[in-house]
This record gives sequence, C-alpha cells and structure tokens, in this order.
Amino acid sequence: MRLILMGPPGAGKGTQATFVAQHFGIPAISTGDIFRANVGQGTPLGLEAQKYMDAGEYVPDEVTNKMVRNRIDEPDAKPGFLLDGYPRTTAQVAELDGMISFTGHRLDAAVVLTVNAEELVQRLLQRAEKDGRTDDTEDVIRRRQEVYAEQTEPLIEVYRSRGVLVEVDGMGEVDEVTARIFAALDDLPQS
Ligand code: AMP
Repeated sequence: MRLILMGPPGAGKGTQATFVAQHFGIPAISTGDIFRANVGQGTPLGLEAQKYMDAGEYVPDEVTNKMVRNRIDEPDAKPGFLLDGYPRTTAQVAELDGMISFTGHRLDAAVVLTVNAEELVQRLLQRAEKDGRTDDTEDVIRRRQEVYAEQTEPLIEVYRSRGVLVEVDGMGEVDEVTARIFAALDDLPQS
C-alpha cells in the first residue's frame, strides 16, 4: 500500500497518519517530523531546514526530495508507506512518481482531509499551547496557510485527474475521521 496524506496545516494529518499506517502495517513517514528531529539533533540538514520552517516556508525541493528518497529506500518501507506532508509541490510530485515507478509499484491513493478554515485556526492555536511548536505562532501559521494554498492545494486536482484522490471529511472527533478514512481505503484494490 502506497499512500499520501494531504491537507492544510491543522487538518489532522499527523494524528491520522499514525492510525492509518498502523492499520495497513506500513510506516508513516512525516517530512515535518524528520525535519524536526534533525533540528532537535542539530544536524546539518536540521540547520538548513530550520530557517525555512521558522518562517513558515517550504524547505527547498532538492533537500526534501533527497531526504524522502533515502527514507523510502529503507527496508521497512519496501512493502509500502504512508507519506504525511509529502509531496507539497509539483516538483515533489514528479520526484515521487519517479521513486514509486522505479520500484514497479503505483500510488494507491492520495487522501485529502478537508476541514473548514475556522476549525483549522482553532486546532492550530490549541496545538501551539500543547506542543509548543516554534512554527505555531499566529504570523507563521498565516504564512503556512498561504504557502499551502499557493503550492500544495493545486496538487489535489493533479491527483483527482489521475483518479486516485480520496477526499475525507476531517471535521469532528479524531476516531470519527479515522473511521471515515478506513472506510474509504478498505475498498481500494491493494497493489
Ligand atoms: P508539517 O509538520 O508537515 O506541518 O511540516 C512542518 C514544516 O516542515 C513545513 O512548514 C515546512 O517548512 C517543512 N516541510 C515539511 N514537509 C515539507 C515538504 N514536503 N516540502 C517542503 N517543506 C516541508
């Protein structure tokens, strides 16, 4: 199973990614988490990524693509993977296409979580209090939303036109959203 999970900041991607990956027995690969781990450890990748993350901008494609390529080359990702927060640009879509077709597989589904704007802001403000992420300040949240609308939202149509888009209502309780995702994905033919 090869899946991607999309949605604006605050849509619940990280939370749902864990449940979905567990359900299908595949690793959840979150580019944001990998960047944050590198920032925490002070690696060269972390130092490079941090300046973009703190400004709410995307880390350059070359850096992000290389990191994802290395991660999905690891043995645990051979049977499949769930990408949380990748691809986010058209250049990343092309790169991912290459990575997947190289292995003779295909993308099974691009799941997009839809949540209304008011709810997104509420969730991000709550997360700011709980997790203390440095990019959950009001200005940076706003910038992340703009960057998502400009660079990532157009990808929804790309995946729709390929017939792999699965739109899921991301409003409501966490377990309700999880159940909706499972219901949508359990019907897919496995590759
Ligand atoms: P996330 O945890 O998915 O919200 O990601 C946090 C931050 O990491 C983003 O605001 C970006 O700065 C960076 N990031 C995560 N994934 C990507 C990606 N696919 N392309 C570029 N930057 C990314």
